[in-house]
Amino acid sequence: MTPPNDDPDSCVAAGDSRLRRGGSLKFFYGPMDCGKSTLALQMDYNHARQGRHGLVLTTIDRAGPGRLSTRIGLGKEAVDVDQGLDLRLLVRERWAKGIRVDYLICDEASFYTVEQIEQLADLVDTSDVDVYAFGLATDFRTSLFPAAQRLFELADEVTRVQVEVLCWCGRPGLLNARVVDGTIAREGDQVVIGDTTDADTETDHKDVHYQVLCRRHHRTGDLGPAARAEGQLRLV
Ligand SMILES: [Zn+2]
Repeated sequence: MTPPNDDPDSCVAAGDSRLRRGGSLKFFYGPMDCGKSTLALQMDYNHARQGRHGLVLTTIDRAGPGRLSTRIGLGKEAVDVDQGLDLRLLVRERWAKGIRVDYLICDEASFYTVEQIEQLADLVDTSDVDVYAFGLATDFRTSLFPAAQRLFELADEVTRVQVEVLCWCGRPGLLNARVVDGTIAREGDQVVIGDTTDADTETDHKDVHYQVLCRRHHRTGDLGPAARAEGQLRLV
């Protein structure tokens, strides 16, 4: 899939000084299941085939540390971002070893620290690295994650991911609900890892999972006919 070197288009791709216009910081956001991680991998592929060298980062990925995975089965090795990782050092250490890093793909960026978002902006501004960040905007209470807020404030471009995910009622699903023991949660820690598929996960002896809802049903806490039927079964 790599273009031949005599392809004029590939000659002006990566690293050509004529194309240097400074890096850019772009934030792609949406609820779970909207295809953010798939888009992240597609972005990486598109840049890599133009001869650019990137680094894929993620945190709290469903596949575990060191891997970015998608619900539709794609995956790639990734740097696991823990809270203490300095992203500027991460890139500069690679440069010191002679490894090119032209861009970063940052999945689950709303779970990074605010300081790490600042570091990403520094990399864009001082080192011409392009940063593509992907993540949730809001938590289960519909409040912005701090890192997402900082991305909204600092990013050159902000895009709502357009792959539509639907609420059970058919309206666009825009918000993530945390469902604890069959009921929508309104308070609790901002980040609780639950299961995001059909099967529930035991967390502190409670079933915790996430469900995408439209704004109306997030506000009323109505999880749909399937959840209501399950609730009635529990009452029997
Ligand atoms: Zn709805």
